[in-house]
Amino acid sequence: MDFTKLSLKRDSSEPLYLQLLAALEGAVREGALDAGERLPSERELASRLGLSRTTVAGAYRELEARGLVRSHVGRGTFVCATPEAADAPFAWRGKVSASVAYFGYSHGLRHLMLSGLSPGVISFAAGAPAFECFPIEDYLRFTEHALRRHASVALGIAPTEGQPRLRRAVGERFNTKAERVLILSGSQQGIDLIARCLIDAGDYVVVDRPGYVGAIQTFRAAGANLVGWDTARASLDELEDLLVRYRPKLIYTDPTFQNPTGRVMSLRERQDLLKLAARYHTPVVEDDPWSETYLDAAPPPPPLYHLDAHNIVIHLGTFSKTLAPGLRLGWLAASEYIVDQLALIKQHENLFTEGLGQFVIADFLTSGRYDAHMDALRREHARKRDLMRRALEKYARPHGLTFNQPRGGLHFWCRLPRGLEARAVLEAAVTEGVAFAPGEMFYPDAAGRDELRLCFSSAPAERIEEGVARFERALAVAASSTPRRGQMNVPVV
Ligand code: PMP
Repeated sequence: MDFTKLSLKRDSSEPLYLQLLAALEGAVREGALDAGERLPSERELASRLGLSRTTVAGAYRELEARGLVRSHVGRGTFVCATPEAADAPFAWRGKVSASVAYFGYSHGLRHLMLSGLSPGVISFAAGAPAFECFPIEDYLRFTEHALRRHASVALGIAPTEGQPRLRRAVGERFNTKAERVLILSGSQQGIDLIARCLIDAGDYVVVDRPGYVGAIQTFRAAGANLVGWDTARASLDELEDLLVRYRPKLIYTDPTFQNPTGRVMSLRERQDLLKLAARYHTPVVEDDPWSETYLDAAPPPPPLYHLDAHNIVIHLGTFSKTLAPGLRLGWLAASEYIVDQLALIKQHENLFTEGLGQFVIADFLTSGRYDAHMDALRREHARKRDLMRRALEKYARPHGLTFNQPRGGLHFWCRLPRGLEARAVLEAAVTEGVAFAPGEMFYPDAAGRDELRLCFSSAPAERIEEGVARFERALAVAASSTPRRGQMNVPVV
């Protein structure tokens, strides 16, 4: 960057070092100065701008205090990242542990969850069930019951493994022993605990490709090297090849209405996968938020957990996709040894999961009201899926969008016509007031640029068509600003 162009007003009452600070901060924020770039030495910049060295040193010191630059004796001053909030005078960024700084925590998941929260935006981004179906009356009744009859247990100190009542109820429903159930504050917590329990930095982990972004980010932050297993092909030969070549620490898969593709692994594929995993002594993490969200008459094949004869499957479940994500209640089922280890790790960040909600959910499960709710939810989800499918056929297919036919889960997985990228469409979509999840975030290797995911269940039914119409306008805007084949700078192969 050309530092002589920094705008400083010498006749202003604002001290020059603050003006220089603001100018440099602006340059970092706008990307004129990139992370890793070296600033001129204090002496050099002072002479280029006709300032005293103290003025430049004052600005650099403040930039460092704000965590924007880092000085290394003998090497110079380097831009380290984008600015923190103006009220953050202490450079926390420079204090984070080596593993956080090195492996980095991605913002993708957070953006995905927030993208639907802006007023006026119709969000097809994060996956949540239809809120209209949330059984408020039952919830109130069970809450009152828990408070009147079990307040001291529900609100008192409780086992890290979870309230025995909910462990029993989940165990009964899922057909496993209560001792093999660990209650979680959402299944994402389970993924994190498993990563902490099983992964050493540098280990290989096989993940669905494309696969759940929260798992990709968590395993990556634990220092794992991720190897993608192609979910569309689901070739067992390919999986065996990966097991032989990389000796991974675990296989993470979402076999039922997979997020994001919606694919269901057949019974045969499940059996073959388990045989391979057993042969190569590789644990399988089965992430299954969706089994109960089937929309056709027949439920999907049994979970890997129930087909497993070798005790190698850790099964994750959640109430986020069937009741509400805000309840933050999930669970896992695994060997008692693993449940014990995970509970010890869980204690470090979450002494125990909130109790009242556990009582309420246990009552839902044992009273039959959960089943009644699921029947109503499936009907509403099928209706919304059909609404979105018709809208996509009407508005988006003419633009060349192709998409799957979800038979469960909460999403359409879509492919853009050749040459169009989801990021460009998303940029236009933000202006049009509609949000979705770009495909790239579901790949461990930055592929999927021409894919995207739309959640059909969470937006109100009467907003779905309008949302897809906005999406169509975004497609048109992105297509008109994307160079067509032949006009592109790079050859299309
Ligand atoms: N696994 C998958 C495949 C998911 O899609 C999600 C949520 N999007 C989770 C786990 C985490 O869900 P929660 O923590 O809310 O239970």
